[in-house]
Amino acid sequence: MSRPWSYSRLSTYEDCPKQYWYKYVENVPGFRPPSVAAGRGSAIHEAGEKYLMGELKVYPPEYQRVSGHLMGLKAKKANPEKKLAVTSEWEPCDYKAPEAYLRGIIDVIYEENDGLHIQDFKTGQVYDSHPVQMELYVALAAAHYPAVTHYVTRLIYVDKGIVTAPKRTEAARLKPIRLLLDGRIKIAEDDQIYPTRAGSSCRWCDYSQKYGGPCPH
Ligand code: SF4
Repeated sequence: MSRPWSYSRLSTYEDCPKQYWYKYVENVPGFRPPSVAAGRGSAIHEAGEKYLMGELKVYPPEYQRVSGHLMGLKAKKANPEKKLAVTSEWEPCDYKAPEAYLRGIIDVIYEENDGLHIQDFKTGQVYDSHPVQMELYVALAAAHYPAVTHYVTRLIYVDKGIVTAPKRTEAARLKPIRLLLDGRIKIAEDDQIYPTRAGSSCRWCDYSQKYGGPCPH
């Protein structure tokens, strides 16, 4: 068992169990050279966090296309980079607690009108998986904000200048969302084989043959 789970850990498993096994079970160092895009994404996230924390007076130039939205978040005193974790009973716990079952770092979070607003900065392309990631964040954050009645999620595509429409999730939806996540995590934790699942993920896989890694794909 490899806890705590996170969005990236679970999606790595679901993309390819073997890739997950190399990365999280055997801790095999990746063979792929460091990605320029990943480094850029981290730098942009960090700049956004500094702006929301008041360490930068002017919004970072990379946020030009979503500047109005970003300034609005700062005016609301939205919290950046919130580290949250829950136990397997979906109770809140410290991010580094040994009993942490699932955890995540939420780019933007704030309370307003009995609702909890959760937003995520994205660089690069729009992917179908992004709204699924936001559901996981709702399930996670809800444990830390038990008094709110609903959750509002949005994705901020920094490069494309897109801020998605608010998606409202009522507290009554938490149970099925969490049951689904528990089921997905159980499948991963019960796996004893970690088969390869060759497909589009091989293109960027740290362990693929083309980068000199141990996987034959
Ligand atoms: S190269 Fe493909 S099949 Fe092999 S571990 Fe990576 S994603 Fe899985």
